[in-house]
Order: sequence, then structure tokens, then C-alpha cells
Amino acid sequence: MPEPLTTGELLALDRQHVWHPYGPMPGRQEPLVVESASGVRLRLADPAEGHRELVDGMSSWWSAVHGYNHPVLNEAAHEQLGRMSHVMFGGLTHEPAVRLAARLVEITPEPLRHVFLADSGSVSVEVAVKMCLQYWRSAGRPAKHRLLTWRGGYHGDTWQPMSVCDPDGGMHHLWSGVLPRQVFADAPPAGFDTEPDESYARHLRALVARHADELAAVVVEPVVQGAGGMRFHSPGYLRVLREACDEHDVLLVFDEIATGFGRTGELFAASHAGVSPDVMCLGKALTGGYLTLAATLCTARVADGISSGEVPVLAHGPTFMGNPLAAAVANASLELLLSQDWQGEVRRIETGLRQGLAETAGLPGVRDVRVLGAVGVVQLDHEADMAAASRAAFREGVWLRPFRDLVYTMPPYITQDDDLARICAAVTAAAREG
Ligand code: PMP
Repeated sequence: MPEPLTTGELLALDRQHVWHPYGPMPGRQEPLVVESASGVRLRLADPAEGHRELVDGMSSWWSAVHGYNHPVLNEAAHEQLGRMSHVMFGGLTHEPAVRLAARLVEITPEPLRHVFLADSGSVSVEVAVKMCLQYWRSAGRPAKHRLLTWRGGYHGDTWQPMSVCDPDGGMHHLWSGVLPRQVFADAPPAGFDTEPDESYARHLRALVARHADELAAVVVEPVVQGAGGMRFHSPGYLRVLREACDEHDVLLVFDEIATGFGRTGELFAASHAGVSPDVMCLGKALTGGYLTLAATLCTARVADGISSGEVPVLAHGPTFMGNPLAAAVANASLELLLSQDWQGEVRRIETGLRQGLAETAGLPGVRDVRVLGAVGVVQLDHEADMAAASRAAFREGVWLRPFRDLVYTMPPYITQDDDLARICAAVTAAAREG
């Protein structure tokens, strides 16, 4: 074993060589060094604002729903490591992947039936888009190759997903003019607990109708638009999209990579609307945040359409497709989630966030406070000073990652009430000082 690096050595090498998400090069950011993580706590190499451990308010970007270093997930990983960590999926198959696919079909809305096990959320969206385009190509309608989405969305960092992210001011506006040209509806009116606005519904219907001949699919995040702005909208718009897609022969894709596995209070956000998509993308919490794995599910109609085409295969096959280690942990994570009262826990967190953030709404500089399931968002009336906001959170002993005008949290479902109160105090402090 090599000698462990000191924190100073590690940060120096990090600065010299390592890209971080949306990070500049060479290292103008100063990340915190995490030594280990357990339960809801990240243990740091050096204290931040006096705290050696931080309560995780981010679930490592929606994924670590059971917390870190969970004995059940550890055991599943160890057991699977003893069998095989990876084998190619072309021409071979294995129990972890097959079991996972069957279980996902069981728990997702009917009539989703076939599962492509991708290796990241972005790739699962790429695969979803490919499925839709190929479906129409196979049907002899290759002109149907564009996508419709609403503004303010986020679907990942690879090419097709970037093309359906928010085109104005979003993270990928650098590439406007180069990305495939998609059709954008306005962002849905805000408010989960609202009746659908009829004029907005008309706008959606009209756009689908106008572009039907060139649209392969509508691609949206149901109920919560995440990284594009942490906005919640009425589930009613999903029903509007379903009807419009059915009427005009357009496929409907739900990106549930962030919302899947209970985050919004339903196992999948589509269930708030009682609507089923033709294609659904899952990721993040699929493995409880342990390993990189995602899934694209589609209906028999989509799969049969592709299979009856001139090229009757879905031409996608990443090296790590169906990774057995990730699939085994995903199976364990799913059973762990479904064997407990996860909905009760998410409701408890929702109540805790509502109570803990109630007074934050009255702070100067705060535009809006919203909570849905295990997601709490404070929107400021200005861009947050990220460094100041993060320092304020550290002082409360909490890890948050404010961005733009948003201070937000999506804690692990196992977060207990005292830690949840700390998270709320940290969000409030970050909103006040950021
Ligand atoms: N879709 C949504 C809704 C997401 O939130 C994300 C990740 N933030 C992605 C897609 C991309 O997933 P990944 O980062 O695993 O590629």
C-alpha cells in the first residue's frame, strides 16, 4: 500500500491535475477532502469552520438515500465482489442484472417492460432519445427526429441530453447553435399544489400539434425540474402531455433520474399524475448512491417498433453495461427501500423541512421557500455568494452546495430529526449570508 497523502499533498495534486464537476482548470476551487462517510455524515480530513464531520444535506446529488457505509449495501457489494465485479454484457448475462431489470419493470408504471442498463444518467437519456428516434425511423418516419421539452430543465451533460437542457442561461448555453435544435415550451407555471393553468396547457398542446410531424418525443422531468432551477409544477401538466402525445403520435419520455425512488413522496413522480410514459430514465438513487448505474425502460410498443425496423437492433452497448457489482447493490438498495416504510420517512422529512424552513421565507433577500417530499428549496432574489453560503452551512456542521439563486437540500431518507433541524438551520444561515 502506498503511504497516505497528507491533506496538503492531496490538494496540491488535485489542483494540478483534477477536473471537478463544472470546475475550472487549473484548480481555482478548493474542495474539502473527505476521508470517509458513514450514515448521514461526511468525515473531513481537516475541520471546516471547526467541524470535522458534516451532516450531508445533499445525498451526494439525490443518490445516497440510505446514507453512507450501509451494512446491507456493503454486504451486497462484498458478496458480489467474491463472484465477479464485471463481465461484458454482450452475449453474456447474469443474475444481478436480470433480477434488477425484472424488479424495475415490476415497480415502475405499466406498461414499461424492457430495460436497458446504462452506466450513468446522461447515457440513459441518450439511450432514451436513441430509442425514440429509432422507433420512428423503423416506422418509416425518419423526419420525426426532434424533441420537445420545457425550458428550465436539466437532463445531463452528454450531447442529446444537453440539447434538451435549459437553452437560456442554463448550464449548456455555450453550445447553443451547435447542439441539435429542439423545440422548447415555456417552463411550467410554478407550484406543485396547483391546478393546471389552462392557457399554459393550451401552449403545450399547440406546440405538440404544430411540430408533430418532426417530433420523435417529448422529454421532461416530471413534477420537479432539478438542476435547471429546483422548480416544482402541477402533475396535471404530465396528463396534458400524455394526451397531446397520444393524439399527435409523439412518444413521451420521463426523466426520473432525480425524482425516482421516492424523493417526491411517490416512488416515481409520474405517479403523482397517474400517467405512464413510453420511456423512463432512472439513475442516481438506483444503487443507493453506491455505484454508477442507470436504466432506460421502454414499453413493448417501442421495443417492438425498433426490432421490426430495417436495422432491428438498438445500437448501443457500453462496456460497463449491466455491471454486476452495481446491479447487485441496486437490488439490495431497492429491497432495503421497499421493505421499510420509505413513504413514512419521506413524509417525516417533508414535515421537518416545512417546519424548519417556515421562518426562512420571511428573511430579507428570500424570494420563495418550497418543499416537496424530501426536497427543500430556498430561492433568493439574487445570485448566492457560494463561498459565503457554504461557510455559513459549515458553521452549522452541514454540507450544502448552493448554486445560482438557490440554497437547497435533499437529505438521505435516514436523516433523523435532530440532524434535519441542523440542515434547516444551515439552509437558513446560508440563505441569510449567501
Ligand atoms: N437527468 C436529471 C434529471 C438529472 O438530475 C441528472 C443529474 N443531475 C441527469 C439527468 C444526468 O445524470 P448523470 O449525472 O448521472 O449523468
